[in-house]
Amino acid sequence: KLSDRLAAVANYLPHGCRMADIGSDHAYLPCHMVKKGAVRFAIAGEVAEGPFQSAMKQVQLEGLTDRIVVRKGDGLEVIEPGEVDCITVAGMGGTLIASILESGKDKLGEVTKLILQPNVGAMAIRRWLSANDWKLTSETILKEDGKIYEVLVADKGESKYTEAEVLFGPYLLKDRNEAFQEKWELEKQNWQRILSQLEQAEQNEATDEKRLELEKKIKMAEEV
Ligand code: SAM
Repeated sequence: KLSDRLAAVANYLPHGCRMADIGSDHAYLPCHMVKKGAVRFAIAGEVAEGPFQSAMKQVQLEGLTDRIVVRKGDGLEVIEPGEVDCITVAGMGGTLIASILESGKDKLGEVTKLILQPNVGAMAIRRWLSANDWKLTSETILKEDGKIYEVLVADKGESKYTEAEVLFGPYLLKDRNEAFQEKWELEKQNWQRILSQLEQAEQNEATDEKRLELEKKIKMAEEV
């Protein structure tokens, strides 16, 4: 059985798609989808040797080697142009996910859906999507084992987001569920802590700028 976090990602994969799961680790997500018959073909990509071996082992163990290929490589370099129509990247920071997309732009030609699950820093992903002609179509925020996760789904298309939408997520902002409230309450407390440390430190132009930035974010969090 998948974790709630990975199940939330799985939920968004269109039936019958060809997927690449980047940073797949044990390849749990592609194995689950292929076994269910929900995905025709999957690539499990891994950059690190240990997780790459785990993925190979899992796919063999489940007898899925005819429909899942495990490839070792950095980000989207494990994909040949046109091989897949959906890409999932889960369980990493948003900045890393955005940089994987940026470096692999040339592999996105025939890709129609991105399902991204940042643990932190979803903002970097929303910025990247908007700057590269992708638009969010759905978002989920959930809590599992004391941690809060976001899932971002994007299709090809133009988008423009306000500063608040980039930070909080245009869909999450409308819904504002319990996990959302908790995440931003915690973030706000964290920013307030950093702010009070900054105020005690020596003031210069750099700290002034940082202070203003934090004050702005705290105000935005208070508003939601
Ligand atoms: N996707 C799985 C999940 O959500 O449960 C595994 C998440 S695990 C925390 C992150 C994985 O991403 C690690 O196995 C790591 O080796 C891999 N990874 C990190 N950077 C990567 C990159 N640039 N390309 C491919 N894999 C990467």
